[in-house]
Amino acid sequence: MPEQPRSRRQTRAAILGHLLQSGGMFRPPLARAVRLSEASLSRILFDLKAEGLIEEVRRPAPYFGGPTALVSLDSSVRLAAIELTGERLTVGVGGLSGELHYTERLPLPKSPTVKSVSRLFHQTLQSLQDWTRQHRVQLSQIGVSVPGLGRLSELVNPIIPCDVKRVRGMLGEMFADVPVAITNSVVAHATFHRCHTEDYPFAGPHLFVFVGQGVAGAWMDDPIEADALQPVELGHMVFGDGGPPCRCGHHGCVEAYTSLPALAGLLGVGEPELLQLGDEWVNAISISARVRQELRRRLFRLGLAIGNTLNVKPCAGVAISGWPSVLAEADRKALIDGIDACVMGGRKFAQVSLAFVPPSSGNDPNAALAFAACCLACRGGMPVSSAEAA
Ligand SMILES: [Zn+2]
Repeated sequence: MPEQPRSRRQTRAAILGHLLQSGGMFRPPLARAVRLSEASLSRILFDLKAEGLIEEVRRPAPYFGGPTALVSLDSSVRLAAIELTGERLTVGVGGLSGELHYTERLPLPKSPTVKSVSRLFHQTLQSLQDWTRQHRVQLSQIGVSVPGLGRLSELVNPIIPCDVKRVRGMLGEMFADVPVAITNSVVAHATFHRCHTEDYPFAGPHLFVFVGQGVAGAWMDDPIEADALQPVELGHMVFGDGGPPCRCGHHGCVEAYTSLPALAGLLGVGEPELLQLGDEWVNAISISARVRQELRRRLFRLGLAIGNTLNVKPCAGVAISGWPSVLAEADRKALIDGIDACVMGGRKFAQVSLAFVPPSSGNDPNAALAFAACCLACRGGMPVSSAEAA
């Protein structure tokens, strides 16, 4: 099948995306990766360099007579990252390779409301504005990560009361010239892993599952396209009537069995204490044989939810992050068994490969920063209006 012709934006996005995921490449492998002749690549790199998006640094040649100029993303580009979690709102300014130059964390009130969360956003954006003015920093992109954000929850967020439209309005007023992208936190975490987790197992389309304070998934596709990252609410898959209440308002969701707050009762610790420990509870709390058995039952259920998701939309890879990835192999097996028991024809027949990646919760605003970098790459570093036209 002939390749679809690519627009200028897509070609630039492919180059920036490869540099983002690799951290830097020599010209010949980069040209091969983005399917361009070295001459064409050279022309585009010339533009990207003039626009301050990439730089070339001298490196020892990888082989005798090989290239010596490593192409990487320009280290002076600045992005803002804003990440809302169950406990706090974090803002940061960083670069394309994920380093942070400024971070501020503001705790959420005990019972957050739309009003108090909006106020916190306003306070945070003011701090960001002060810092960027003081340091004469021009932002190239703002990335915002909000838990539970989806197609239906732009206005009513069932997870954390947050009026995204209002936040968007504040950003538009205070940072009028800066492109803004707001996403579900699972998409931000998936982006973070794809760019920064060493030996991340999948390069092609796959399902990313995050198990922490909530349970959610994201479809990960070719990062050139803006809609390549789609959240999927597999955590709110309901298994029959009854079951424990879920924060979404339903009963018996898989999240109500396997999220960190849902585990607190089972493990016999307070919810705040467990959230404080985060994914590390696996190493910090010893559990009885009875609790382990129930934990495995819940992991099996999570496996069923993942398997059901794969039945609806088949996919060759699943990456699982969060506390299950810290578990011993014997415990993880329950989750894998759940997937096996559910995927049509079984996991092997369906050729689904499974990988556990380290947890990334508690590292805010790194996920939002990775998402901001991905958005900049995705529009090919072009202004939003011309990227849409290209
Ligand atoms: Zn639910």
